[in-house]
Amino acid sequence: MPNEINLILKSDFVQKIKNGYPLLSREFIEDWSEATEEGSIVNLLDQKKNFVAKGYYGLQNKGQGWILSQQADEVIDTDFFKRKIKAALAYRKDFFADVKTTAFRVFNGEGDGVGGVTVDYFNGYYLFTWYSIGIYELKEMFLEAFKQSVDFKGIYQKKRFDTKGMYLNDNNDFVCGNEAPAPLHVKENGANFAIYLDDGAMVGVFLDQRDVRKTIRDKYAKGKTVLNTFSYTGAFSVFAALGGAKSTTSVDLAKRSLPKTQEQFRINNIDLENQNIIVEDVFLYFKYAVRKKLLFDMVVIDPPSFARSKKRTFSANRDYVKLLKEVIQITNKGGTIIASTNAANFSMMTFRGFIDKAFRDLKIKFQVLESYALPKDFRVAEKFQESNYLKVVFIKKL
Ligand code: SAH
Repeated sequence: MPNEINLILKSDFVQKIKNGYPLLSREFIEDWSEATEEGSIVNLLDQKKNFVAKGYYGLQNKGQGWILSQQADEVIDTDFFKRKIKAALAYRKDFFADVKTTAFRVFNGEGDGVGGVTVDYFNGYYLFTWYSIGIYELKEMFLEAFKQSVDFKGIYQKKRFDTKGMYLNDNNDFVCGNEAPAPLHVKENGANFAIYLDDGAMVGVFLDQRDVRKTIRDKYAKGKTVLNTFSYTGAFSVFAALGGAKSTTSVDLAKRSLPKTQEQFRINNIDLENQNIIVEDVFLYFKYAVRKKLLFDMVVIDPPSFARSKKRTFSANRDYVKLLKEVIQITNKGGTIIASTNAANFSMMTFRGFIDKAFRDLKIKFQVLESYALPKDFRVAEKFQESNYLKVVFIKKL
């Protein structure tokens, strides 16, 4: 059993917690001195020492932990996690029933009642991602609850926190059950993806873009020349090609993107002849495209929110306008730009402002066709909408 501590809330924040805000912020508490061990269960009390809520202490860049319950008598044990997991699985009933999609998120942190951990489903296998030492300290209970709630072929995990030299014995991503084949083939709306559960931080596809990929394939790609920048394993290019794109060009700086993108095309039976895969800094590629007077009917931009390469650092917040201006210039009149960002530090309104500014600076008109946030399986807590980081806008260049 984890140890338990009491922390006193500043009076300004009591109501916020009572209303269902799930994050335990640094500013909520005056005196943190009781909190010495991550993974401690925290009882949050008001100034008169009345119980308000309980949670756990775990350091993430977001905050100091997460609220788990507002009931004083609710014990944080395996049964507690089982209730949360059962509800999360029920919420994804339609996903489990859909034979055309076998990769999706089954547990999305605080959106499903336990911040700091996500679980993704890949065709019978489950991938746990732990975001703090605190939640990792509670993982035996969570894992046990999970094993009691679902049938699984195998379980993998990623640690997305600084281990500070701890946990040296479990550097392997495999946890239990059977090991998954590498690659593991999954389906998404009928298309195939090759997934590697034990090959670094990323597994081959970002599940949160599922609805965007489907829209590209079903509504926009037919007959188009498509440029996919920051293409990673080329998932947007694959869906564009499946939707009948005339050609696709995928550009990513990482050397591994070439064989990985070829593999994704191959397992979807797409002829590689009209699919260009370029390993290069996109900013150099833009210069090349302008020099060669290349123009595309559709351009996808999905940069990391922050990246450092040898030549430059890119920050979505600071550089998105500049990036858009480059893209607008190599997009045909009447063409579509799909601008995406997963940066959590600015809102959709700010993002729409970036789009506005880029077009205004170039004196070109545009029309917003549609936009996307996180899909249904990436459940967001009602009182914590700021965790809906995904912003995707389909723009027509006029
Ligand atoms: N759009 C992708 C995910 C992009 S992840 C998808 O939907 O699957 C971000 C990618 O940007 C990484 O693969 C990284 O290698 C690449 N990247 C980062 N900086 C880059 C740069 N300057 N030029 C090209 N690619 C870059």
